[in-house]
Amino acid sequence: MTALPFDNSYARLPERFYARRPPTPVAGPRLIRLNRALAEELDLDADWLAGPDGVAALAGNTSPEGADPIAAAYAGHQFGQFVPQLGDGRAVLLGEVIDRTGIRRDIQLKGSGPTPFSRRGDGRAALGPVLREYLVSEAMAALGIPTTRALAAIATGEPVIRETVLPGAVLTRVAASHIRVGTFQFFAARGDVEALRALADHVVARHYPATAQAANPYRALLDAVIAAQAELVARWLLVGFVHGVMNTDNMAVAGETIDYGPCAFLDAYDPRTVFSSIDQGGRYAYGQQPRIALWNLTRFAETLLPLLAEAETEAVAEAEAALAGYAQRFEDAYHGGLARKLGLGTVREGDPALAGDLLGRMAENQADFTLTFRALCGAAEGPAGDGAVRDLFVDPTAYDAWATGWRARLADEARDPVETAAAMRAVNPAFIPRNHQVEVMIAAAVERDDFGPFEVLLSVLAHPYADQPENARYAQAPEGGGVGYRTFCGT
Ligand code: AMP
Ligand code: MG
Repeated sequence: MTALPFDNSYARLPERFYARRPPTPVAGPRLIRLNRALAEELDLDADWLAGPDGVAALAGNTSPEGADPIAAAYAGHQFGQFVPQLGDGRAVLLGEVIDRTGIRRDIQLKGSGPTPFSRRGDGRAALGPVLREYLVSEAMAALGIPTTRALAAIATGEPVIRETVLPGAVLTRVAASHIRVGTFQFFAARGDVEALRALADHVVARHYPATAQAANPYRALLDAVIAAQAELVARWLLVGFVHGVMNTDNMAVAGETIDYGPCAFLDAYDPRTVFSSIDQGGRYAYGQQPRIALWNLTRFAETLLPLLAEAETEAVAEAEAALAGYAQRFEDAYHGGLARKLGLGTVREGDPALAGDLLGRMAENQADFTLTFRALCGAAEGPAGDGAVRDLFVDPTAYDAWATGWRARLADEARDPVETAAAMRAVNPAFIPRNHQVEVMIAAAVERDDFGPFEVLLSVLAHPYADQPENARYAQAPEGGGVGYRTFCGT
């Protein structure tokens, strides 16, 4: 068996789907980290990957046997503006492997040199954004949220020029696929219905095989993608995640979180929170994400019109009916999740209002999102736990007034309080990638070549729902609720 047993289905699609292009070698490759648990999941030989041949392959210095490196073509709406050609400008898909559960997974190098889609970019990635993506995507996976994964990070030994000179790195990203809403838009914009059909058939077979049996498989595909995105965005909101750049080229049709550029987690709860320095209008603010997902899905539905029905009016009716299902799907996932966060096993009338009331009080009182829900787990065991929650509110009585109604509702559930608290701890993480900790980690690596903080954070975030008293400081909120924290796109 070869170390990377590739089977490249995307490269078997028509030539206009991609550009064949090997990665560009780097001067001094050095393994920063290999994700051995993920290698195992993918049925890959971790020792080979960590050895000289593996590192050379992960750096893009050699092409491993069976690889067929391609840069994928795609388009996309960036902040609402359509760009007909984007594409992998600094990434290549090495190939696909079948994991231990039989799922096909992409193995992509990000930061692997210029491609025909690079435009004015250098095709490279800086170390800081590579570590951020590695850490945050792995944290999301540990939280149980669908996401691309990080298999390895390699230092290139080459500088990349940004506003300053920075060390370069290559990330090995693993995804169910890298097919985006923007991939469909690329062909739709060119009126290439044949390619759209081939792409849709590929996605059906690969990600949503059950839809192939439907009377109208393309309608079923649209429904399935809408459902997956509605659930994904609900999951983001439930952990305080702000993606930051929900352009249609950053929305994967398989329903995984992808493209960890300016993303960040809320500290103090405020739905208007925007971290990205380029998101001046707040288009991708925390609380806007459900709306934006629907906007993106509407663009996706438009690309499918030629496949949905022969007659255009009929196709539009199919698309509209599918999109009309989004709101309910999202509400169910979001309110179901909020109820679980509050220790409620079922959603009853009044529960969304109860949760909404708490969130409103948290926003008014600058309460830390993650700490509040985690502290509520203790309060579910009895009023002795109230102090820890109250302390998180500027005006602690804002919590008291709410807690009375919550306790009354919990009593209806007639569940043992200890059991309730345990169920709550399984959905309310103690540990998220705290922005101030991520910055400390990046500074240590970039300025001092010190990857200690990266390793520590990774190991803490691998068990986000465990108490880990010895790591309590990684659960703490920053001074001042993290107000004013800014992130930058990962270029
Ligand atoms: P992103 O903001 O990472 O989603 O990237 C948007 C587009 O810009 C994609 O087509 C990327 O491939 C491209 N891009 C981003 N950074 C670079 C870079 N350093 N060199 C070439 N292309 C890039
Ligand atoms: Mg992108």
